[in-house]
Amino acid sequence: MITQQQKPPVIWLNVAVFSVTFLVALIGVPLYAYYYGFDWIQITMLLVAFSFCGMSITAGYHRLWSHKTYQANAVLRFIFAIGGAFALQNSILHWSSDHRIHHRHVDNNDKDPYSAKKGFFYSHIGWMLRAYQASRYHDYENCRDLQKDNIVMWQHKYYLPLAIITNFGIPLAFGLIHGDVWGALLLVGFLRLVLSHHTTFFINSLAHIWGSQPYTDRNTARDNGFLALLTFGEGYHNYHHIFENDYRNGICWWQFDPTKWLIKLCSWIGWTKNLKVTPADRIEKTKAKMQFTRIQAHLSSMPNNMARMSQLEGEYNALIAKISDYYQAKKRLLELEKQKLADSYDNFEFVQQYKSMKERLELQRREWKGLIQQYAL
Ligand SMILES: [Zn+2]
Ligand SMILES: [Zn+2]
Repeated sequence: MITQQQKPPVIWLNVAVFSVTFLVALIGVPLYAYYYGFDWIQITMLLVAFSFCGMSITAGYHRLWSHKTYQANAVLRFIFAIGGAFALQNSILHWSSDHRIHHRHVDNNDKDPYSAKKGFFYSHIGWMLRAYQASRYHDYENCRDLQKDNIVMWQHKYYLPLAIITNFGIPLAFGLIHGDVWGALLLVGFLRLVLSHHTTFFINSLAHIWGSQPYTDRNTARDNGFLALLTFGEGYHNYHHIFENDYRNGICWWQFDPTKWLIKLCSWIGWTKNLKVTPADRIEKTKAKMQFTRIQAHLSSMPNNMARMSQLEGEYNALIAKISDYYQAKKRLLELEKQKLADSYDNFEFVQQYKSMKERLELQRREWKGLIQQYAL
């Protein structure tokens, strides 16, 4: 255990930045709003600047550089590098190095830089207030690949001037054009930064505490639709921790994941490519396995559970087998469609088989759902 004397030194610059910006946003912004007011142009600029910072972190720092879930052209990488400095969350290289270790050693209090097991405050902000990880940052050896990216290295080298220019320059320029410099500094400077900081920090803190665990309970990461609203889609963190190579975090169309939409949109104009997705059968099987494990644990604590246990096992095995059959057939069908052979007479029987496999899987899914609901887990 670390005693008070052994604690690493306080990083006073970070303490000052976090507390001053927080206090100004908390006290200065409402006072200014009361005495002078803000107009819709300023509110819009706040949202634009907040989104620029947020998405540079989620689409750039996180899904592009830390996890390499897709590739982006130099223009987009440059935009994200600027937005990341504006978000004031350290350089891409530094951030990605931390984040890769977070995934590799999640919840390990000795290695995970923002281990959720050390509590809300530590994982949210406490980990940045002292030099806990200083020894790791001399060569960033877990980011050798990123060191080949000129934009990453340029941003790392000039991070401080870039952070100062963006954080003062953008609000100031807007304020001069719009005609209210103090209002712009408070809203687009301070409030934007504080909102951007704490919503991103929620991913390390709240997204490891609050929400569901549909895919795995081997780590603390949670899926939380509400947090996704605040974090440009990063709230689906349980999914993300198990399928970290996927460019999506919210995989269903109704899940709020604007980071995914942005990456996809950019692929249509050729700015992003090689978007990686986890195969749908793997996702479905992982989810079913988690449900199976939960019910199994629940049943094992009940008396006379043999019959129920074997029914559960039977249904689960049938579901997994039908998922495999269906997706294998689907893959073949897609190949045939590509070769324009799906409608040929020779493949008539196969197409019929495919359709019945699909129906059988649908039926099995319904039965499985019924079973899950029975145990309400
Ligand atoms: Zn991640
Ligand atoms: Zn995490």
